[in-house]
Amino acid sequence: MKFTKPRLPYSPSDFEPIISAATVDYHYGKHEQAYIDNLNRLIEGTEYADMPLEEIIKNSDGPLYNNASQAWNHIFYFFQFNPNGQKEPSGNLADQIANQFGSFDELKKKIEEAGASLFGSGWVWLSTDNSGNLYITQGKNAENPLTNGLQPILVIDVWEHAYYLDYQNRRPEYLKRIWELIDWNVIESRYN
Ligand code: MN
Repeated sequence: MKFTKPRLPYSPSDFEPIISAATVDYHYGKHEQAYIDNLNRLIEGTEYADMPLEEIIKNSDGPLYNNASQAWNHIFYFFQFNPNGQKEPSGNLADQIANQFGSFDELKKKIEEAGASLFGSGWVWLSTDNSGNLYITQGKNAENPLTNGLQPILVIDVWEHAYYLDYQNRRPEYLKRIWELIDWNVIESRYN
């Protein structure tokens, strides 16, 4: 098996009460494992077998794209969390946010709106280009901005499996609370 699921550097209950241990167990434990298993099955014996995951995402479509992207997206999502992390952006990234959005609160509001208004399953992304500009985009299903030449720096999963056990249909509440877990030290390293 080529791709494996990295171990989370935290215990599933470390995200409570914002995300329950049960959600982490199902979401990262079972959903993510299924995407990785499907990915490994689909690349076996093909031209993708020795390709880095990001290259598979940029070069595939159909079920392989969906599973490769979902495998990558969930690692990107879960590894941006730290309940004791840095609560706000600083440095270059904070300056860029102020320039483009006016304030950190306004950035959060725009991301929450994008997450609440995405119909069905998908992701809300904060990405950057080669010049450091920031972009908030919605991705349906497995869609990843890497496909459009952008470099993601933050993502929020708005598939129901990300929040339904804890918030049921209250997606906006999940979006509002998820900020408490995001470690801006991680987002800044991705940006710089
Ligand atoms: Mn998910």
